[in-house]
Amino acid sequence: MIKIGDFNKYIEKKVRKTVEDYNLIEEDEKIAIALSGGKDSILTLYMLNKFKDEFNLDLVAITIDEGIYRYRNEGVEAARKNATDLGIKLIEKSFHDQFNFKLDQVSDFYKSACIPCGVFRRYLLNKTAFEEDAVKIATGHNLDDEIQSFLMTFSRADFSRFSKFGPKLDPIHPKLIPRIKPLWNIPEKDVGTWAVLNNVEVHFAECPYSYTSARSKMKDYLNKMESKRKGTKLNILQSFKKSFQFEKKTMHLYECEKCGEPSSSKVCKACEMIEEFNSFITIQ
Ligand code: SF4
Repeated sequence: MIKIGDFNKYIEKKVRKTVEDYNLIEEDEKIAIALSGGKDSILTLYMLNKFKDEFNLDLVAITIDEGIYRYRNEGVEAARKNATDLGIKLIEKSFHDQFNFKLDQVSDFYKSACIPCGVFRRYLLNKTAFEEDAVKIATGHNLDDEIQSFLMTFSRADFSRFSKFGPKLDPIHPKLIPRIKPLWNIPEKDVGTWAVLNNVEVHFAECPYSYTSARSKMKDYLNKMESKRKGTKLNILQSFKKSFQFEKKTMHLYECEKCGEPSSSKVCKACEMIEEFNSFITIQ
């Protein structure tokens, strides 16, 4: 039988080690937490709140409503409840208010709804954090997420993305807020155990679009491997750490000609997609 106190100490110790080993946070920083209301983002909120006094942090949480019927509302509720409990300001944004569409309305245009979802969520999160003067965005990426992303990128031979891995991404453009991943070393099942043991209100449901993503297939594959050969996931992470240095990315970023947000090309992916949506709607 797991003792709550011992388990919480184990989680805190692991997060602290990642924070210290990779210098994730510094004193007096304003940090925005990407708060979906799922277990990973809620644990990230609790952990940063633990460091709040020690580092004199100014915390703000940001929740994005993508417009997913019968799914996102519960997450937003969990985000509100936990942010209120901890006294952390919560900013709520939605695709509908910002871009005039809900994810459900454009999901059929793509092989997976996760493609537009990721582009617009990252865009809105970064823009909101920048407007709030946050110097970092903390996300709830856990160990499982990281190795899934790593293997997906590896299988596509997309080496340009390797610099996006690791628990801390360096600043590469004044308007692109660097990301930190305090749960980088924590397996997903431990995050779930933490939420259940502590009776924390989190949104456990799976997104109705998750089955469309390559990530969910990689997740199933890794879970099967782990159940057959315990330690597979940790071994992948160790191989990753040994093979790749977390170097500062030198890629040049532009400011999008249309919206002014940081972009790897002259027009950012979000503006490009909005044009695509308009042409899809005109054709239909
Ligand atoms: Fe968005 Fe895909 Fe995640 Fe659903 S599973 S919230 S569509 S990225």
